[in-house]
Formats: sequence, C-alpha cells, structure tokens
Amino acid sequence: MVSPPAWNRPSEPFAELISAEAIAARVAELGAQITADYGPLTRSSEVVVIGVLKGSVIFLADLVRRIAAPISVDFIGISSYGDATVSSGVVQITQDVSRPLEGKHVIVVEDIVDTGHTVHYLMENLATRRPASIKLCALLHKPERSERTVHIDYLGFTIPNKFVVGYGLDIAQQFRNLPFIGYVQGS
Ligand code: 5GP
Repeated sequence: MVSPPAWNRPSEPFAELISAEAIAARVAELGAQITADYGPLTRSSEVVVIGVLKGSVIFLADLVRRIAAPISVDFIGISSYGDATVSSGVVQITQDVSRPLEGKHVIVVEDIVDTGHTVHYLMENLATRRPASIKLCALLHKPERSERTVHIDYLGFTIPNKFVVGYGLDIAQQFRNLPFIGYVQGS
C-alpha cells in the first residue's frame, strides 16, 4: 500500500482520534445494518440516501458501497451562519435535492451532529415533503454540545467535545481528504 503524504500522518499537525481502519470497520457495520433494515423495502419503493454537502461526501461514498440493496443517491447543501466553529442555529438550504421525495424512504447522511441545530432543521424540512419514512445516519455525535434533541438512527461514533477534522470534515475547507479523523493538538 502507498504511504499517505507526510502531512497526512497522525503525528502532525493533528492527533488521531479515529483511525482509517476503525472508520472502515464501523462503516461496514452501518452498511450491513441499513441493508438489513431497507433491503425488503426496496422491492416496493425507492430508497434514497441524501448526503449533506460537503462534509458527508467521503462517508457517504464509503457507506453506500456497503449497502447491498438498490438505492439512489442525492445531495443537499446547507449553510449555517455563525463563525466557523460555532453553530448559530440559523440554517439555510443552499442547494436542494434533485428529485421529489414523496413516497420514498429517505436516509439522511450527515458528517457530525454537534449542537443538533442543522439536523433538526433539515429533518423537519425534509419531513414536509411527504417521504414514506425518514431516518438519520451520522458518522459522529458530540453529545456534550447538544442543544437540540436529535434522534440518530444510525451512528458511527460518539466523540468528546473537540473540533475534529478529516474524512470529509474541514477546517476552512481544508483537510477533508485526511484518511482518519483527528483534532488539533492541544485543543
Ligand atoms: P450543528 O448544527 O449540529 O451544531 O453543526 C453541524 C455542522 O457543523 C456539521 O455538519 C459540521 O459542518 C459543523 N461541525 C460541527 N462540529 C464540527 C467539528 O468538530 N469539526 C468540523 N470540521 N465541523 C464541525
């Protein structure tokens, strides 16, 4: 296997919180769980997996390849106003899904549930479009920061209150391509 570039190594500048191997193992488990739950539904209706841009893209790409059932993929763009690291609770859809959701089984895929404002808004909004069902799959959850009660149907990992980066998550649009999840050393 080819070594990752030097700045991708866990030592600098990020401390590794969840390794690429641990992520892959958990994503496989989530995919198996979703396959078991949704496989039978795909015989009679469409299952659509909606990735929340941009943070969920890498997680979604790995997850859908672990779902052994017919599904479609769509994306929604969200922006929450506030400074870069603190959610304000004011959420806006910047790019909508490409097809109607009525009658479909929807699985929303998020990178992280932090305060819960973004997902709370999103799930309420999508529920108004009359899907047959709607569930949430999140890679990470920071329960210490929770301000909204959010039910996560499929959860990858519960993490401590640290600002994390990698595997889709960014700092100022950078580092989404780190293969592991890390945090700024000392934070
Ligand atoms: P919430 O509305 O739940 O507070 O925040 C959700 C969004 O804030 C996430 O989708 C993500 O874009 C961003 N966010 C929250 N915590 C972190 C974090 O630790 N690292 C990164 N990179 N983004 C985060």
